[in-house]
Amino acid sequence: MLEDKNPQKTSLAELGEFGLINHITQYFKVENASTIKAVGDDAAVLEASEKQTLVTTDLLIEGVHFDLSYMPLKHLGYKAVMANLSDVYAMNGVAEQITVSIAVSNRFSLEAIEELYAGIQLACSTYKVDLIGGDTTSSTKGMLISITAIGKANKADVVYRNGAKETDLIVVSGDLGAAYLGLQVLEREKQVFKVNPNNQPDLDNYTYLIERQLKPEARKDVPLILKELGVKPTAMIDISDGLSSELFHICTQSKVGCKIYEEKLPLDPQVISACEEFELDSTMVALSGGEDYELLFTVPITDFEKIKGNPNFSIVGHITAQNQGLNLVTRANQEIELKAQGWNALKGK
Ligand code: ADP
Ligand code: MG
Repeated sequence: MLEDKNPQKTSLAELGEFGLINHITQYFKVENASTIKAVGDDAAVLEASEKQTLVTTDLLIEGVHFDLSYMPLKHLGYKAVMANLSDVYAMNGVAEQITVSIAVSNRFSLEAIEELYAGIQLACSTYKVDLIGGDTTSSTKGMLISITAIGKANKADVVYRNGAKETDLIVVSGDLGAAYLGLQVLEREKQVFKVNPNNQPDLDNYTYLIERQLKPEARKDVPLILKELGVKPTAMIDISDGLSSELFHICTQSKVGCKIYEEKLPLDPQVISACEEFELDSTMVALSGGEDYELLFTVPITDFEKIKGNPNFSIVGHITAQNQGLNLVTRANQEIELKAQGWNALKGK
């Protein structure tokens, strides 16, 4: 059967701003008791609580932060929510609400915006977060999305970037570098497609990498696991820009140095094989590849037994005195200074 390549598209002008807002928000359900009023009034209303409130926001611009030629809109919506929730979890908190503001050019149809919101809705229902508002406007070119997430945490549970202490262990959740390699695979397919649109790519060897790029999951579970283990991190940050860059933030704010070990970096087998294929150094990719949305945290060395052997976590190094700087110990037992954008030895290559 022939696929209809041009199904009827509804123009946004036909619907008008209010029609559009009603249309895209109608299927969202409120899940949290703290949401008193969600979409539909001049402002959303939230119940105050004894806890502290966490607020984080991100602005994404087409062509700068995302490329719609390989990022389906539903995935974009999902991922944009993940990036924000990840920041709330990195404070050791629980996310409860989001606002979503969009600006779109007349290139986008109602069906396109529906796709975007289908992704946002899937993220909201999976992560038990309420969509409580936003703003909708037009842009002369392309799409802009701004999401704000609101969460909460007990005052005693909030974890900042500045609490890491000398001898603390450095821990990461999950594995690193896969999202960056997924992007490399998609970029390559985009180039191939430009030359030969009939080419059917075989992406079987890259499923994990592509999923990590197109459908990342924020680590909502990590604060809960840590609580169960009776561990409160001394510092925590989410890995959105790459391990090196995030270590830099923790070390700068905590006024410490660090030593991490190349052989301890958690890598998925697909990361290792794709690095061989793309002739990339897997350590470089783990240190500098972004968008993994894993959590990086430090714990007192006395918590070693609680963290060791937990399948969610890898101990990758430890905190040192500030004057020792930030260092990577290679498999050959050489020490190399870490730079925010990867390691020194590979700079300029
Ligand atoms: P106002 O004119 O007061 O800014 P709007 O007409 O822009 O109100 O919005 C009406 C309601 O719809 C508000 O609750 C607002 O938060 C919500 N809203 C507007 N745009 C969006 C959007 N893109 N996503 C989710 N909610 C939205
Ligand atoms: Mg408005």
